[in-house]
Amino acid sequence: MRYLPIFLDLQAGPVLLVGAGELVRAKLRLLTAAGARIRWYATSGDHDMSGLDPADAERIQFAQGDPLTADLTGVVAILCAGAGDIGVAMSVRAKSIGLPVNVMDDLEHSTFIFPAIVDRGEVVVAVGTGGASPVVARRVRERIEAMLPARIGDLATFIARFRKSIHSRIPEMALRRRFWERVVDGPIGALVLGGRKGEAEAALNDIGDPSAFAGAQASGEIQGHVTLVGAGPGDPDLLTIKALRALQDADVVFYDELVSSEILDRIRRDAARVPVGRRVGKPGIGQHAINRLMIEAAKSGQRAVRLKGGDPFVFGRGGEEIEALRKANVAYSVVPGITAGLGGAAQFEVPLTYRHEALRITFLTAHRAKDAEAVDWSTLTDTRMTVVVYMGMTAAPSVRSGLLAAGRSPQTPVGVFARVTRPDARAAVGTLENLPDLVEKIDGGPAILIIGDVVAHSAAWRHQNLNQIISKILEAAA
Ligand code: SAH
Repeated sequence: MRYLPIFLDLQAGPVLLVGAGELVRAKLRLLTAAGARIRWYATSGDHDMSGLDPADAERIQFAQGDPLTADLTGVVAILCAGAGDIGVAMSVRAKSIGLPVNVMDDLEHSTFIFPAIVDRGEVVVAVGTGGASPVVARRVRERIEAMLPARIGDLATFIARFRKSIHSRIPEMALRRRFWERVVDGPIGALVLGGRKGEAEAALNDIGDPSAFAGAQASGEIQGHVTLVGAGPGDPDLLTIKALRALQDADVVFYDELVSSEILDRIRRDAARVPVGRRVGKPGIGQHAINRLMIEAAKSGQRAVRLKGGDPFVFGRGGEEIEALRKANVAYSVVPGITAGLGGAAQFEVPLTYRHEALRITFLTAHRAKDAEAVDWSTLTDTRMTVVVYMGMTAAPSVRSGLLAAGRSPQTPVGVFARVTRPDARAAVGTLENLPDLVEKIDGGPAILIIGDVVAHSAAWRHQNLNQIISKILEAAA
């Protein structure tokens, strides 16, 4: 992100507009819609304002003389559209005194650019692409237009009218935020969005105790809460809607090292972020300390999120965490996530079950060789069972020997799927006898191993076969 979207108060002072033609008229429409006062230097001398509302036209002042020597005192921004070389010269002048300037279709001479806008009264959404593609910006805008309720602006205006009085009745900021969340997400918000403002106002006035409405207890304390959230294997688009909402509502997020930075970007900006997992070269703070942090946060009235890679209940110690929360009498909930095994299977097209061929799935962990030795491999010999191994990279040789000793064929198809659903995801497929070599091939974890005939149905397997055929043909031709 190079261009930060900020909202400029166009009523704070006049905007200097330089230029002529249809381009300028488009800018006049936009600026007057925002209530701007405009000082317009028409470089062609033509002040044609066709299509503009006469009431808006009153706020446009025709400026005379040379804009390059104009008095800029109090001017909030300079805009040049269809102004030719004068636009460039204006840009130099504006930059020298630090005044925001936009020269239309000229990034080099602009210090700000216009986003695509969704305009719903007080609710305005700005979409930018850093000037890279107005078409992409417009497509995004269309999607947002379709998604936003028509009266979302009314809702903001409605709330604005009551903000002061609620502020004085709920001095505590976190509680106030919850009050408004309940209004927006609940029946009152629905009434406003449904065009029934009168009823919404009556309902709001009926709230006798706004703190209690916001969820405060009789003692005045706010009830905290912990949400265990599964972040999925990496791709932020695989977050569930509930997970996204929890991240957007959080006061504090305790996250693991496996959670990707794209997912951390989805957290509410003002929420505190606390890494608690193992980092490269550094041990984590330990399960006991993590439990204490979550409990403390909830007890002080915060909405804490415990964000974990994949699913919280699949090799994620979520079970231990909710036990600690139960013991401490802290309210909690669990939001499932897509576990790495399922993410990898979907991405590389490994059907984990397959009619007549694969009727069972086992998820197991084999962190170290020692864990692998503890596995009773004899329970995994059924050829119609797909085995998914987590944390199994280092223990791959033991996984192989365990399964071979238990009688699985060395020719059993296997795959190592690394960094699944991330941009650098990789797969290596082969047979059980060369499983450790496949692990070497994929350049580091995290990775899951999938063992079973279904791997032969995967996209990775088909690609590999194709590659082998191509090499054979090339060899024969050489
Ligand atoms: N709760 C997580 C698992 C945590 S255990 C889940 O449900 O996915 C950590 C192991 O998960 C890693 O050693 C690796 O085997 C697997 N894993 C996690 N993210 C992964 C990813 N993006 N690609 C491949 N394997 C992954």
